[in-house]
Amino acid sequence: MSTLEIKNLHVSVETKEGSKQILRGVDLTINSGETHAIMGPNGSGKSTLAYSIAGHPKYEITDGEVLLDGENVLEMSVDERARAGMFLAMQYPVEVPGVSVSNFLRTAKTAIDGEAPALRTWVKDVKSAMAQLRMDDSFAERSVNEGFSGGEKKRHEILQLELLKPKFAILDETDSGLDVDALRIVSEGVNRVKDNTDAGILLITHYTRILRYIKPDFVHVFVAGRVAEEGGPELAERLEAEGYDRYLQGATA
Ligand code: ADP
Ligand code: MG
Ligand code: MG
Repeated sequence: MSTLEIKNLHVSVETKEGSKQILRGVDLTINSGETHAIMGPNGSGKSTLAYSIAGHPKYEITDGEVLLDGENVLEMSVDERARAGMFLAMQYPVEVPGVSVSNFLRTAKTAIDGEAPALRTWVKDVKSAMAQLRMDDSFAERSVNEGFSGGEKKRHEILQLELLKPKFAILDETDSGLDVDALRIVSEGVNRVKDNTDAGILLITHYTRILRYIKPDFVHVFVAGRVAEEGGPELAERLEAEGYDRYLQGATA
């Protein structure tokens, strides 16, 4: 069993007007096998949380810590985070011209496991994961992120998740820009990871609709850079009905 602990996390970002505090003391603990949803209005700092844990240089940690089984994640390089078992969907968001999806996945898998995967099983695993995500075989030969549509990016994200088998996965707005069919396919992928592995999953979303397909064990409402309320799946249903209005009275983003 592993534990990811976010403790009193404060994060600022450098803007033209100077340093702006975005996260104001985030506390969140995720154990192996648990699915947590972070839900909140636009601009509440959800992506900032994801980027901060991913180690994006733009985000300055001013206080607090992130621990993976007691190890300080914030002191690790981006690669070390991946090797420690963190999967951050936005880790490699850029185009990687000339690097095919297939080579990218194999390189990532090798880096994370410390040894190359056995070729025969690996090729089979990639093919079957792609088939389950309804991805054409030719996708494996395309350059990473080059000309990917929104839906292809999300599928590529879930393909990585299924193959790299992380301890913890942070998925930011996995549902955005997906039509209903793609949303279902991507959700099924997340559910396979949920059911077949012991990964802890942090699903960040503005909309409640993905939570019809992926059932969280815990729901955290994020407002103005911190967790404003926590509950079980019933909280997502309440947000679907009521929206975020009652949290926003008096809150400053
Ligand atoms: P969410 O994902 O919940 O919509 P974000 O984390 O993207 O929220 O943004 C939270 C706030 O921080 C917003 O006011 C946004 O404008 C600001 N912010 C985030 N990243 C940056 C950045 N790189 N530069 C300037 N402002 C930023
Ligand atoms: Mg966001
Ligand atoms: Mg599980």
